[in-house]
Amino acid sequence: MSFFEVKNVHAEIEKQPILKGIDLSIDKGEMVVVMGPNGSGKSTLSNVLAGHPDYLATGSAVLDGVELFDLSPDKRAKAGLFLAFQYPVEIPGVKILNFLWNLYIEKYPDRETRKYSSIVDFRDFLQRKATELAISKDLLMRGLNEGFSGGEKKKLEILQMIVLEPKLVILDETDSGLDIDAIKIVAQGVADLKKKTNMTVIVITHYQRILQYLDYDKVLVISGGRVVKTGGSELVEELEKTGYGQISD
Ligand code: ADP
Ligand code: MG
Repeated sequence: MSFFEVKNVHAEIEKQPILKGIDLSIDKGEMVVVMGPNGSGKSTLSNVLAGHPDYLATGSAVLDGVELFDLSPDKRAKAGLFLAFQYPVEIPGVKILNFLWNLYIEKYPDRETRKYSSIVDFRDFLQRKATELAISKDLLMRGLNEGFSGGEKKKLEILQMIVLEPKLVILDETDSGLDIDAIKIVAQGVADLKKKTNMTVIVITHYQRILQYLDYDKVLVISGGRVVKTGGSELVEELEKTGYGQISD
């Protein structure tokens, strides 16, 4: 069995079938690109893997030997799954520093295992990372995504990922709505953490722009709730030229 193995995943919402038998097999440390037309089920797949309660899902998704479909969303996160949302939500009043510190101590409940023993040390670490991601340090003191620009929200997702060091990251159109500089910074953040932790990555995107900064292994195209094509970087170039018109459901 692969490090991440998805088998025959079906999902429906409001009696509408969206995913119609998705299979994925991804090795540890692999980076897989998922492309596909709007409405093909890419975000649905991410949400279903993360355990979003609105979907009725069947099938199996085993991450490093653990069946995610048996777990609640928080347990899936603890099992090492991280989903960077296409549309991150705002949670006013929850200060980012406190939010991230809580994630951190949940992840390392045993004090001995913590690299940063106090919230002050942790704040210094976050401030360094914020600088690398070109986000203002002041944001760390604000409410979660409260009044953030699109780019700031996406960069904050990357900061969360850096704190959690997940086994598997799914980036759902993290590049959409970002300017060229921000795309480069976000991609660099992902690449750096991958280099450090050998995490497995699924990058959902429509554009070659972010992919030029990422060293990915394979490309899948989803259409009509199924994987309809697999290939390498040539597939990205082909889609960039021809669009999804040629791809049948
Ligand atoms: P993608 O991310 O590939 O653009 P989505 O997974 O967001 O596609 O959507 C797939 C299909 O599921 C679309 O037809 C969309 O309208 C439908 N869908 C997604 N979420 C809901 C929802 N909450 N209620 C009804 N339909 C939904
Ligand atoms: Mg989507």
